[in-house]
Amino acid sequence: MSRFRMYPTTAQEQRILLHCAHARYVWNLAVEQHAHWKPGRRSAPGFAEQCRQLTEARRDNAWLASGNADVQQQALQDFAKAKNVRFASGFGEPAWRRKHVHEGFRVIGTDRVPESHPDGSPKLNARGRQVMGRSVVVRRLNRRWARVKVPGCGWVRFRLTRTELPVAKTFRVTFRNGRWHIAFAVIPDPIDAPGMGEVIGIDRGVTITAALSDGQKLNCPQLTTRERARVRKHQRRAARAPRGSEAEAAEHAKAAGLKAREADRRKDWCEKTSTMLARSYGLIRFEKLNVTTMTRSAKGTVELPGRNVRQKAGLNRAVLAQGWGLLRRRTGEKAPGRVEDVPAPYTSLRCSACGWIEKDSRKSQAEFVCVSCGFSCNADENAAVNVAAGQGGVPRPRRAAGAGGVTAATGRSSAREPRPTRVGIPLF
Ligand SMILES: [Zn+2]
Repeated sequence: MSRFRMYPTTAQEQRILLHCAHARYVWNLAVEQHAHWKPGRRSAPGFAEQCRQLTEARRDNAWLASGNADVQQQALQDFAKAKNVRFASGFGEPAWRRKHVHEGFRVIGTDRVPESHPDGSPKLNARGRQVMGRSVVVRRLNRRWARVKVPGCGWVRFRLTRTELPVAKTFRVTFRNGRWHIAFAVIPDPIDAPGMGEVIGIDRGVTITAALSDGQKLNCPQLTTRERARVRKHQRRAARAPRGSEAEAAEHAKAAGLKAREADRRKDWCEKTSTMLARSYGLIRFEKLNVTTMTRSAKGTVELPGRNVRQKAGLNRAVLAQGWGLLRRRTGEKAPGRVEDVPAPYTSLRCSACGWIEKDSRKSQAEFVCVSCGFSCNADENAAVNVAAGQGGVPRPRRAAGAGGVTAATGRSSAREPRPTRVGIPLF
């Protein structure tokens, strides 16, 4: 994917927003059709049938007919694709799209270009004729700006932040937090390994986002203390403003803008770090984390409220603010076949020099001193070295009980990972 900031004029913006509304409407109708299905019912309509229904709906509905048929049909195509890959994509069942949150639509290129095989020979159909594919129409304006044809809006400018013009069959326009983006469907080439065969282990944590086994400590940038204070200020003002007033919406928008800035920083850091990892190391090992289960809510139910809900919510926020999942995913995409997940219990308690696992070895959040061999090291680096070696550890057997017998292992080991008491981000 190659993504740029897009700057439509005010008139274009109105029309593009209408495209977003149409695409969302069509997508949500498709979601409803498929949600209606139950075992025993006739199957929900497929793409071809939905396209026929769309044509009928456009005939009856003036609002829908005023929009672009291609944009609406592409929404159905997107839905069909999302439905097909729902078990493998990680996004699950296609879900309802909300106004202001999921604003966007896909456009298929209008230029017809001859298609070719990966080896460069022209692609021919069964009759021996050249197969023609679609291509997006993009023109360069100058070194920094280019423009693209959006149906019904003419040429729309976007900021060209790469040297090459993107070549793609389709692109997607999105609107979020008051900013427009255009993403061309380009699959970048994977990054080659440096060829030194170097193995790196990465330990992800809350205090240090990613500790590498070669001693580097990488930190994901977050909002500064002053910026966090500003978020709280705007949230407070929004809460005190009259319900549904313009002032309330404005304060919410200001808070959302700051949150978007944090997300931008996190994404930027993840992209740069994953590229750095893919370029500098042959084999990249992450400790296996399940962020979804780690950040599961502690809220409970009304009848059975959970304990330490505020603390858990704060920790969840801190975990999600680190972008662990994104870093792992992007590294895997940039260095396919060179990233491993090491199932790693006790990585933070195991001595990387002698392999001894002992809770007392970890003196504090940062300090590791092995009680067996005396090896001392930064605790996160020690864990990263364990990950690089491809192992966490097997919990050592329980010490013999008083009478010489062996106590049966209970479900819970005494050697547990230390739980952070304070996570560094104030609750707000
Ligand atoms: Zn040791």
